[in-house]
Amino acid sequence: MSQTILIVDDLEINRVVARTIFEEKYNILEAASGEECIELAKKHPHDIDLILLNLVIPGISGMDILQLRKEGKIFPNTPVIVLTASEDVPTQIHAFNLGAIDYITIPFIREITVYRVANALYFSEQLMELERQKDRFRLKSEKDLMTGLFNKVTTEERIENALAVRTGGALFLFDIDNFKDINDTFGHSYGDKVICEVAHFIKCQFRSRDCIGRIGGDEFVAYMDDIHDRDTIRHKADAISANLKDSTSNQISSNINISWGIAWKPEHIGADYAHLFKTADTALYEKKRNGKNGYLILDVPAPDDISPAACPPVSL
Ligand code: GH3
Ligand code: MG
Repeated sequence: MSQTILIVDDLEINRVVARTIFEEKYNILEAASGEECIELAKKHPHDIDLILLNLVIPGISGMDILQLRKEGKIFPNTPVIVLTASEDVPTQIHAFNLGAIDYITIPFIREITVYRVANALYFSEQLMELERQKDRFRLKSEKDLMTGLFNKVTTEERIENALAVRTGGALFLFDIDNFKDINDTFGHSYGDKVICEVAHFIKCQFRSRDCIGRIGGDEFVAYMDDIHDRDTIRHKADAISANLKDSTSNQISSNINISWGIAWKPEHIGADYAHLFKTADTALYEKKRNGKNGYLILDVPAPDDISPAACPPVSL
């Protein structure tokens, strides 16, 4: 698909000459004033690849347009080449200061105009491709590649950020039971398959807005940022238990069990991620010691003196 150039100039002759130079290769839009330019900005927020902007236009001036663009109000990422009637150096410097990437003097010298426009479009496209690559790398770097869940660092960061702004939230820490035996008996590839199945199962138990991560070999975290009370949490945990037992629909290999501990803010007061995790981990540890295959919520521990004795377990 060919690229689109917006020509902003009140003199029709300038627009006609520019259009004649470029219309064979590019889509052309035209505006005869600053107001028309802003209208087109609203109408085509993502479709304009380059703006040729005469600074001296009626109403909202070219400099005003550059200022609005600099403030991110219109065309924030679209390159602008200014059209100036003479070699007016201070004006050109001012335009560069406001974010113009080049200038072309009028009357147009055809070859120079063509090269400057082609260069601007080329570098802008390269820059956008770099941005797209950066986004792809960032997404990849946030993920655990085997399961597609968030990795440990991203999981912790996201929950930490949520805890900083939310008054409530529940953290579930899952660990597959006797996973070493599964590896030893059926091999590592089978173990990997089980990890992926469990990851998928856990993901399906929560909403898309919840943060789900794989934080270690067979350990997973899920965080819900708006659950505040024990009854709701218990209800959620019971539903997960029931789904786990329903082997016809849960898509997990048979005989796979999971234990999990739960902690939440505000009940586990002063909870940052480290405290919530420690509390959930203590609950998980207790559940592992007392039979595995299910969940446990600790009763209101002071996060710094968590110990099984200090935290009467609520068993299921
Ligand atoms: P418990 O019920 O107490 O959790 O016992 P467990 O055997 O599951 O013990 P633990 O959770 O400590 O074991 C985790 C095992 O997971 C140890 C490690 O060999 C294995 N593991 C870690 N990462 C991977 C992986 O990516 N793939 C496979 N197949 N195994 C892994
Ligand atoms: Mg385990």
